Amino acid sequence: MVSADDAAGERRRISVLGATGSIGESTLDVLRAHGGREAFDVVALTAKGAYDKLADAAIEFGAELAVCADEAAYRDLRDRLSGTSVRVAAGAEAVCDAAAEATDWTMVAIAGAASLRPSFAAARASRVVALANKETMVCAGAAFVRELRQSGGQLLPVDSEHNAIFQVFDQHQNEAVERLILTASGGPFRRLSLEEMARVTPAQALQHPNWSMGGKITIDSATMFNKALEFIEAAYLFPVSADQIEVVVHPQSIVHSMVGYVDGSVLAQMGVPDMRTPIAYALGWPRRVAAPVERLDFSKVRRLEFEKPDEARFPALRLAREALAAGGSSPCALNASNEVAVDAFVGGRIGFLDIAWVVEATLEQVAARTLGSLSDSLEVDAEARRVAERHIAVKECA
Ligand code: NDP
Ligand code: MG
Repeated sequence: MVSADDAAGERRRISVLGATGSIGESTLDVLRAHGGREAFDVVALTAKGAYDKLADAAIEFGAELAVCADEAAYRDLRDRLSGTSVRVAAGAEAVCDAAAEATDWTMVAIAGAASLRPSFAAARASRVVALANKETMVCAGAAFVRELRQSGGQLLPVDSEHNAIFQVFDQHQNEAVERLILTASGGPFRRLSLEEMARVTPAQALQHPNWSMGGKITIDSATMFNKALEFIEAAYLFPVSADQIEVVVHPQSIVHSMVGYVDGSVLAQMGVPDMRTPIAYALGWPRRVAAPVERLDFSKVRRLEFEKPDEARFPALRLAREALAAGGSSPCALNASNEVAVDAFVGGRIGFLDIAWVVEATLEQVAARTLGSLSDSLEVDAEARRVAERHIAVKECA
C-alpha cells in the first residue's frame, strides 16, 4: 500500500467539507482504507445538520474541528463531542472558517451553490483541492481558477467524468486533443415518453440505475441537468472550446469519459461506478493508491452501449450549451434556477418536466453579465433564485 505521507515524508493534514454526504462518506472510507487517523491529521470535518454522523466521524478520525452549517445543530453537536478534544462550531461563516484552515489536501463535497464560499476559502488554504462539487466551477469557474493560480494550489477534479478526462488528457499536448466525450448514464427515465415523464414522482426520480449519490444530483441525473452542469464544468476545467465537448449516453456507466486525439485515437477511463476510485486518484495524485472498490469483470459486463442523447426529451444539454454561449453569468443562473426547481419538484410543487421549463424561463429573464469575482456570482445566484421562485409560483397557480 502506498503510504499516506507526502513526498517530504510528513503526515498530511486533511479536511473533508461535506463529510456526511455521499462523497464525504466515500472519502472517509478511502481515508480509512489508508490508515485513517493513524496515517492522516484530520483538520476539519463539516456537515449541514447531520450532527450525529459528523460527531461519529470526528471521533473516529480524531478531527481538530467539527462544524455544522446549520446553527440549530450547534448544541447537539457540542453535547455529542463534549469530553473530546474536537473543537465545535456552527453557522455558514464557521464552515468557511473551517475551509480556511491550512491543509495539504481538502475534499470539497458540499452539495450545491452553498459550496461556493467554502470552495474559495479552501482554494486559498489548501495545497491540493479535490473538487467533487461541480457548482463551484459552473458558477464561478474563472474566478476559482484564478484564486488557485494565486495561491499555488492544485485542483484535482473528482466528478467521475472530469476525473476520467484528467486521467487520460495529455497535458503536454493540449493541441493534440480534438474532443472530450462525456458519458451519461441517461438516468432512470431514458426510455420514457414525454407523456410518461410528465407524471414521474420524486420517489421515482430518486432511484438511479447505477450510482448511489445524494438526492439533488440523483434528480439532476434523471433530468440530465447533471450532464448539463458537467458540460459547463468541463469547459472551465480543460483547455477546449464548448464545441469540442460531446455527450454520449452510456447506460452501463463503465466508461467514465473519453478524450479523442487528432490521430483518431480515443482514450477512455473505465471502472465500476464507485466514486471511491476518483477519490483515491485525487488522494494519491500524482501516484496511484489502492481503492476499496470492486474490480471490473469484463466477462460480466459483456456489453457497452452508446447512444446520442435525446435533447427533445432532455432539454438540459441544449440549455447548458446556450448558457455557455451567452457566457458570463448565465451558467450560474442556470445552476441556481435548477437548484430551486429541483427543491420545488421534490416538495411536490411542480412536475418533473417543469424543472427545465423553470430554468429556461429564468435564463430568458436574467440578463447575462460579466462575472469578475465570487461576489458577482453570489449576486447572480440570488437574483436567479428569486426569478425562478416567481416562475414556480406561476406553475403552482396554473
Ligand atoms: P449529499 O447531499 O449526499 O451530501 C452533501 C454534503 O454537503 C453533506 O455533508 C451535507 O450535510 C452538506 N451540506 C448540504 N448543504 C449544505 C450547506 N448549505 N452548507 C454546508 N454543508 C452543506 O451530496 P453528494 O455527496 O452526492 O454531492 C456532493 C457534491 O459532489 C455535489 O456538488 C455533487 O454534485 C457532487 N458530486 C457527487 C457525486 C456522487 O456520486 N454523490 C458524483 C460527482 C459529483 P448534511 O449531511 O448535514 O445534510
Ligand atoms: Mg459526474
